[in-house]
Amino acid sequence: MKTVIQKFGGTSVATEDARQKAAQKIIQQKITGVLPVVVVSAIGREGSPYATDTLLEFVNQTSGEMSDREYDLLLSCGEIISAVTLATLLNNKGYKSVALTGGQGGIITNDCHKKADLLYVKTATILDYLKKGIIPIVAGFQGMTEEGEITTIGRGGSDTTAAILGMALKSEKIEVYTDVDGIMTADPRVCDKAQIISSITYAEVFQMADSGAKVIHPKAVEYARRGNIPLVIKNTFSEAEGTYITENMSGQLNHKIITSVVHSPGRVQFIIKKDSDKREILELIAEENISIDLINIFPTRKLFTVSKEYKKRLEEKLQDNGYDYSIVENCCKITVVGERMTGVPGVMSLIVNTFNKQDIEILQTADSLSTIGCLINEENVARAVNALHDAFGLS
Ligand code: ADP
Ligand code: MG
Repeated sequence: MKTVIQKFGGTSVATEDARQKAAQKIIQQKITGVLPVVVVSAIGREGSPYATDTLLEFVNQTSGEMSDREYDLLLSCGEIISAVTLATLLNNKGYKSVALTGGQGGIITNDCHKKADLLYVKTATILDYLKKGIIPIVAGFQGMTEEGEITTIGRGGSDTTAAILGMALKSEKIEVYTDVDGIMTADPRVCDKAQIISSITYAEVFQMADSGAKVIHPKAVEYARRGNIPLVIKNTFSEAEGTYITENMSGQLNHKIITSVVHSPGRVQFIIKKDSDKREILELIAEENISIDLINIFPTRKLFTVSKEYKKRLEEKLQDNGYDYSIVENCCKITVVGERMTGVPGVMSLIVNTFNKQDIEILQTADSLSTIGCLINEENVARAVNALHDAFGLS
């Protein structure tokens, strides 16, 4: 059965107008005969009544800290409300639809609450509905254990739900609808000269996403690639072609060394001046299951960054274990991404020169084959992104 996955993000289901537009995209797809399977995020962003953060705050404030199991149960509601709302809208327009939880949609995960991993997908229910001419609207970001416990798969997880279903159903493509016309050379909220990228490889988008470009989740890119399913990023609110992501870009001429400038705020730099006798620092961090970034090890100190949400927990552990350390808060990682930079001299020098001209201090750097990342103070983000965007000819 030929299918297309259509995923709608938070802003694409946030208002009556947005839901009408989303419904229109689904109906247009249904008419082509290639059947839509829809995935939705929770309604709206921080602050709106059914957004994930609102639900969390409500229970935290009324009852205190909750267990991981209850956290998952609570958070799964956001996407379920969204799925019911969109399915009802379509039904009332005369297009038969059904809202499904992630588990009902066949997504089976392990029992690692808050960041469960996919085990397998049971496609029977979705296929049954499709055969009957009914559009399945699956709540994103969640799954179910084999025992029937509800799990969630980590923030931004609805993109991953879409990719998982696309892979399981061997869909023609996975469309991710959001509030911008596609993947751009920088976040348009920070860089008003950012340009749409019409086509790009999985590898490059993965690097962008992994470096913190919010527009798509890295795991989604990984699953789409594994299933070799084209991934398309589109705008719910426009008819723009969007960004087409595939394995290679044959026929596409792009001579730019750098394809994008990505920024990832909310980082805290840790400088470990003296390790504890009790336990080596990286071992402790691994045990705590805290993800770290920009790791530099010198004979006299060790540097790395963590997301600000882990700062308190990590500091407590460091103090308990007698480490000598200092931190720099309010940092942002700026990463230039480009598959073609491998072996090209002068990329780092251009970055350093650009920052020097702007009088922006680089706190730390790290590089891979296709990325160079610099840690800077958060207050310099907009200037840094725009200056690099200009310097690498992306504007
Ligand atoms: P959704 O709720 O649809 O999942 P997100 O907020 O997760 O939407 O992602 C869309 C946002 O990603 C855009 O509004 C944009 O500000 C941001 N973004 C960051 N980097 C980029 C980029 N390189 N290209 C496009 N959008 C980007
Ligand atoms: Mg998103």
